[in-house]
Amino acid sequence: MTRLKGNPLPAEAPTQSIALFNRALKVIPGGVNSPVRAFGAVGGTPRFISRGAGAYLYDADGRRYLDLVGSWGPLILGHAHPEVVRAVVEVSQLGTTFGAPSWSEVELAERVTASYPGLEQVRFVSSGTEAVMSAIRLARAYTGRDLVVKFAGCYHGHADHLLVSAGSGLATFGKPSSAGVPAAFVECTRVLPLDDEEALEALFAHEGARIAALIIEPAPANHGLLLQRPEFLKKLRAITRQHGALLIFDEVISGFRVARGGMAELTGITPDLATFGKIIGGGMPVGAFGGARRIMSRLAPEGDTYQAGTLSGNPVAMSAGIAALDVLVKQNAWAHLEALGAALERMLQPVLAKSPFPVRFVRLGSMFWLALNDGPAPRAAITLTELESERFASIFHAMLARGVYLPPSAYEVCFLSLAHTTADLEQLVAALGESIELTARRVK
Ligand SMILES: *Cc1c(COP(=O)(O)O)cnc(C)c1O
Repeated sequence: MTRLKGNPLPAEAPTQSIALFNRALKVIPGGVNSPVRAFGAVGGTPRFISRGAGAYLYDADGRRYLDLVGSWGPLILGHAHPEVVRAVVEVSQLGTTFGAPSWSEVELAERVTASYPGLEQVRFVSSGTEAVMSAIRLARAYTGRDLVVKFAGCYHGHADHLLVSAGSGLATFGKPSSAGVPAAFVECTRVLPLDDEEALEALFAHEGARIAALIIEPAPANHGLLLQRPEFLKKLRAITRQHGALLIFDEVISGFRVARGGMAELTGITPDLATFGKIIGGGMPVGAFGGARRIMSRLAPEGDTYQAGTLSGNPVAMSAGIAALDVLVKQNAWAHLEALGAALERMLQPVLAKSPFPVRFVRLGSMFWLALNDGPAPRAAITLTELESERFASIFHAMLARGVYLPPSAYEVCFLSLAHTTADLEQLVAALGESIELTARRVK
């Protein structure tokens, strides 16, 4: 078993993390403030992180990990990028919140609207959940309709009316996917399968006049990476337009990740509304939604659609976002990140070809998914078998022991950042080769 440099103790128990987790379990439900952090799908004790630097995380025991989670998407520059840190420190000294408008909101709004097709105005909130929730309220106000259509396998935050999974049948009434969501709240949500024009047409033929908005992650990245056919996305644009419904691209992950103009730029499809989060906050809590002025002007105080936030447009978060976007543009980051992703794809090929069980590398630019399902890369939501999930858990822990931090779920995607180097990719490839071998022997 090779050990990575700077990771001298891979086999020992994470004593400090265990101690912290035990304390956390007493005062925080499940010991975490967001469920997937708890290692529930892979077992074991979550690592408590004390610091991040570039492409690396350091846990409470001082162990170093090559980070492929990037805080679930925001850290496209890596941890503690000097420009972002400088902005946060400088701006905080001038006060952290005013409850009144300030220059940084204007600066970030100008950058976001200048980057994204069709975006004339944008409003900032504090999370992706809030952005989507507000965009949907706005779509309903603008169209005067009530129904919202989403796709199984897409995640849009945890607002009640979006915590819906497909019921039985094809174009279906959804059912709540969480306790605490009344059936009445999801009566206005419809759930469709991805990659299925027929189901889409059937729903619009039946209820098109009631549909306010159709929302999709144009590059679905919350249930694996379910890359869509361009024709399917074009069909969404056409059918929503035809029925007077709004098309919402949820670009909370893909915005400023896959291109400066997100998936709208990559596909040439301009949605009516788009939502953002993650990257645009530079690692601070930010969300945003935007679109054409004629739609956005329905928002209070101009219009009749209420939406507000005590910390919305927070100057520290805005400044971190500005710093991050400026670095991305200045370094022409997207070309570099695509090259990095392509290099990893090439380097992994021989390793994956040798794997005794299916491991597919699904990639879009700097985000990728290790798909452990049998058969081709899925375009619609799949459920992994128990065996496949066990294989992932084994790979996850083998990688962790080798100093590589994958997302602790088989359905989560990995993120590369500007801080990742070719040497990091080499470490990743070597560790994955060993982890696959070990897993083939361990999990049968
Ligand atoms: C992360 C995410 C959200 C929710 O954002 P939060 O900031 O976690 O509330 C919404 N949509 C997509 C596509 C996401 O990836």
